[in-house]
Amino acid sequence: MSGPSYAEVIGDPIAQSKSPLIHKFWLDALGLAGDYRRSHVTPDALAAFVEQRRADPDWRGCNVTIPHKVAVMDLVDDPGNIRGTIGAMNTIVRQSDGSVIGTNTDAAGFYAPLADLDLEGAPVAVVGAGGAARAVLFALARAGVGHVTILNRSPLKAMGLLATFGLKGEVVGLDSSLPPVSLLVNSSSLGMTGQPPLDLDLSPLPDDAIVYDLVYAPLQTGLLGAAEARGLDTVDGLDMLIGQAALAFELFFGAPPPEGRDDELRGLLTA
Ligand code: NAP
Repeated sequence: MSGPSYAEVIGDPIAQSKSPLIHKFWLDALGLAGDYRRSHVTPDALAAFVEQRRADPDWRGCNVTIPHKVAVMDLVDDPGNIRGTIGAMNTIVRQSDGSVIGTNTDAAGFYAPLADLDLEGAPVAVVGAGGAARAVLFALARAGVGHVTILNRSPLKAMGLLATFGLKGEVVGLDSSLPPVSLLVNSSSLGMTGQPPLDLDLSPLPDDAIVYDLVYAPLQTGLLGAAEARGLDTVDGLDMLIGQAALAFELFFGAPPPEGRDDELRGLLTA
């Protein structure tokens, strides 16, 4: 007998995840039956977890966070060739025939706040070369950006990413001066609570540059504070968090999130 449908977020650790709050807010707002849980899954338990859930007809799927975004690609179907493109999955969906497919909503979630801009040929700088940076670079490549400067602690790791995404640019260390880019994105963990700060001198940026920080804990990072002090436009990590969740929600529950409720949701997420 089947019970109420549910989705969940998996990771190790998982207590910090804000995904249950977001998805439950939307389920309640739409009056939809269903649940969204938080499940602690360690790396050695990941394969068994996917097999167990695959057999559960009530399971709609899960969001996937650190450290499983790469490993999960070996355990699910990949019709969109995420493995050959972004190289990390953040959303797993169970189809009605019991097959389980993986996708990535981080790239589209990242790009949503930039969608009205013309980034064709624009010079950009990206800090970081981990899973989030892959989604960012994939989206920026599709937007047709120009010269890309990647700043990363491990330059070798970052060099492969330029080639992977067919981008022209260079890789420099975190202590290098910023070039005068139109868009600066922090996709590293620097600036997160418990991590070292991201100390960048923003003075080389033009006055119309945009500074986008993926970090959302804290929401007002040192980087965004410095950008605002310089009078630059900023985008914070909650825009992407809500954007990637919205795409996953529709895949899980078959309806888009309610419109016009983002301010209320942001209030809950920052309370
Ligand atoms: P990840 O794969 O672990 O990558 C972490 C990145 O940060 C790497 O480039 C790493 O450099 C760098 N880094 C970590 N600690 C550092 C240190 N002490 N000094 C210098 N560099 C350091 O993590 P991720 O999944 O890409 O996530 C990165 C950030 O994005 C996190 O803050 C996460 O919360 C955020 N994020 C936000 C959203 C959203 O929706 N807003 C979505 C996804 C991720 P190396 O390459 O040298 O190791």
